[in-house]
Amino acid sequence: MSKSYVFYDGKIVDESEVTISIRSKAFNYGLGCFEGIRAYWDEDEKQLYGFRLKDHYVRLLQSAKTFNLNIPYSVDELCKITVDLLKKNQFKQTTYIRPVVFDGGTNINPTLSDAEPKFLIYCQPMGKFAGKEELSVCISSWRRLEDTMLPPRTKPTAAYLNSALASLEANQSGYDEALFLTVSGHVCEGPGENIFIVKKGQLITPPPSDNILEGITRDLVMRLGREELGIEVVERSIARTELYASDEIFFSGTAMEVTPIVKVDNRIIGTGKQGEVYKKIKELFFGLTTGKNPKYAKYCTPVY
Ligand code: PMP
Repeated sequence: MSKSYVFYDGKIVDESEVTISIRSKAFNYGLGCFEGIRAYWDEDEKQLYGFRLKDHYVRLLQSAKTFNLNIPYSVDELCKITVDLLKKNQFKQTTYIRPVVFDGGTNINPTLSDAEPKFLIYCQPMGKFAGKEELSVCISSWRRLEDTMLPPRTKPTAAYLNSALASLEANQSGYDEALFLTVSGHVCEGPGENIFIVKKGQLITPPPSDNILEGITRDLVMRLGREELGIEVVERSIARTELYASDEIFFSGTAMEVTPIVKVDNRIIGTGKQGEVYKKIKELFFGLTTGKNPKYAKYCTPVY
């Protein structure tokens, strides 16, 4: 592996210089929250673009506030640090950026009242995240955490054990990924992605009140549906069996980008191939991540 620079404790350092205690409350109890951001490489321009940096850092600071893990950086400062770090690493490919806010305390109590907020960012190259072009999913027997338990809206580190249990079960049963229902039985989201269905010409996605993470890609897909495709976009609760009767289903997320789901619980969805609405969203999405679409160019921050 080539040299990796990370941001830790206020400066850019060699990753090998960072050590975190085995007593860390972040390690022992998952006291932290994080973000996942992409920077897209444009081979023609030889330019790397941070994608929606500002939106991700607004969400990170809101999450951190929930956990009494306030860090001394503004959104603008965090965006600048990220650009500096990408530059320092000299990435020349699409890259995933992982900012983490965590409790650096080491006493044995799982408390946040005495939190010692720490902040780091590391990055790694990331191409396609899904191992396949088209996914099969199953409804998980595990339910999504509720806002009254561990708010999924805050991307809490500990909540990804809930995600991992669902993915483990799905993978061990031969599916590519899991899909959560809420405790009250509504379709919620994937372990790390939002979900959309297409039915009777409408693009439908669960509302924030169904314990989803309010995805930044979800926000973009809704906008593309409304403004570019002129289709009706609806946020409403979705019942499990509505999935089986959908014309199309797809995931959205920073890592997953937009990826079609062609099978749910062994039922074939629509034609069993990626659908027409999905294909148009995909084309629009990949046409704007490197600043080529003037309307969305402000989402893209050049690094070099
Ligand atoms: N839901 C969960 C649980 C996630 O972890 C993610 C990934 N951040 C998403 C949805 C998608 O959100 P975004 O589009 O902001 O990456």
